[in-house]
Amino acid sequence: MTTDWDAGRLDSDLSGVGMDTLAVRAGQHRSPEGEHGEPLFFTSSYVFRSAADAAARFAGEVPGNVYSRYTNPTVRAFEERIAAMEGAEQAVATASGMAAILAMVMSLCSAGDHVLVSRSVFGATVSLFEKYLKRFGLEVDYVPLTEVSVWEPAFKANTKLVFVESPSNPLAELVDIAALADLCHAKGAMLAVDNCFCTPALQQPLALGADIVIHSATKYIDGQGRCLGGVVAGRSEQMKEVVGFLRTAGPTLSPFNAWVFLKGLETLRLRMQAHCASAQILADWLEQQSGVEKVYYAGLTSHPQHELAKRQQKGFGAVLSFEVAGGKEAAWRFIDATRLISITANLGDSKTTITHPGSTTHGRLSPEDRATAGIQDSLVRVAVGLEDVEDLKADLARGLAVL
Ligand SMILES: *Cc1c(COP(=O)(O)O)cnc(C)c1O
Repeated sequence: MTTDWDAGRLDSDLSGVGMDTLAVRAGQHRSPEGEHGEPLFFTSSYVFRSAADAAARFAGEVPGNVYSRYTNPTVRAFEERIAAMEGAEQAVATASGMAAILAMVMSLCSAGDHVLVSRSVFGATVSLFEKYLKRFGLEVDYVPLTEVSVWEPAFKANTKLVFVESPSNPLAELVDIAALADLCHAKGAMLAVDNCFCTPALQQPLALGADIVIHSATKYIDGQGRCLGGVVAGRSEQMKEVVGFLRTAGPTLSPFNAWVFLKGLETLRLRMQAHCASAQILADWLEQQSGVEKVYYAGLTSHPQHELAKRQQKGFGAVLSFEVAGGKEAAWRFIDATRLISITANLGDSKTTITHPGSTTHGRLSPEDRATAGIQDSLVRVAVGLEDVEDLKADLARGLAVL
């Protein structure tokens, strides 16, 4: 809907501005009230001027809102802002990160299509493909993330979609997104990247050649552990299909959550910088502690893909993992000895979290699958928050002291 303000200087043209300006300004359409902040349209439905107006809006002959399962101005504002930051033609918001993955597959794939998924994706993503989507005739295969040459033979004539998380959880493995995108396009497939760990502040998969970006906005986009939400972003042609699925099936984003995420985006880059700075300090420090056998963080020169991370990302992220001497018992003792850091599997929060992937996030895998994925029983994962880094170090030192 255009308003008096849309034409005015306050919603000026944002073409060519930087990411920080987009994060603060993109997607805002002021109402005639002239509000400075983004309004929260907490409504499920909308009134029409007349019966004829209702009929015209339902028929799509005139623009305007009908029902919040279809459109909501606050949700749209969030979609426009995240699209601008990802460099996408269009973004579509969903009720959660999982709803984003579901909406992408349901709208772009059909029975008989083949999907390739990187082996180290989020646990619920594997369950979604294995338990549900396969029942509807989708073929799914898993490929180790890091080497593009290993992906090539996995393609089939019916491969429609390739889905990866880079960097991966919890070992911070990467794939060369530009090289994988080239391969996908040569094979006639689309590449979707779950950009949850980096956010557009650190990595823009579309600029690297990917076709679709997925987010769990629940993580860093919120940044303070309040709301669930997700995003699918890409070309309008494909996003039109995603919108169609969401309007029909219903896992749309709540306007309240959209408003929280809209405000979260304004501070996203500053927060990511702070998260990354602390993660680097802790990874450097952990690597020197006796009792710590190995640290997994792409910001370390010991990380096998450090150079790729430098090239592909604007920062190394804030999730790091390390193996302690003494196996699972030692890992659990370490975790239990911390006092400040929260024992929780969530990440992307201002509060630092610590978890034992082998018995939580990756606990449903068989021991053999865990071994194949490189997740040892001695592995501890930390998602670094925004506390004073010296306090975090002191807390991790409590863990080291009981090894
Ligand atoms: C959390 C997460 C998801 C799922 O998002 P929800 O908002 O919890 O549904 C998907 N991918 C990654 C990488 C995640 O960390």
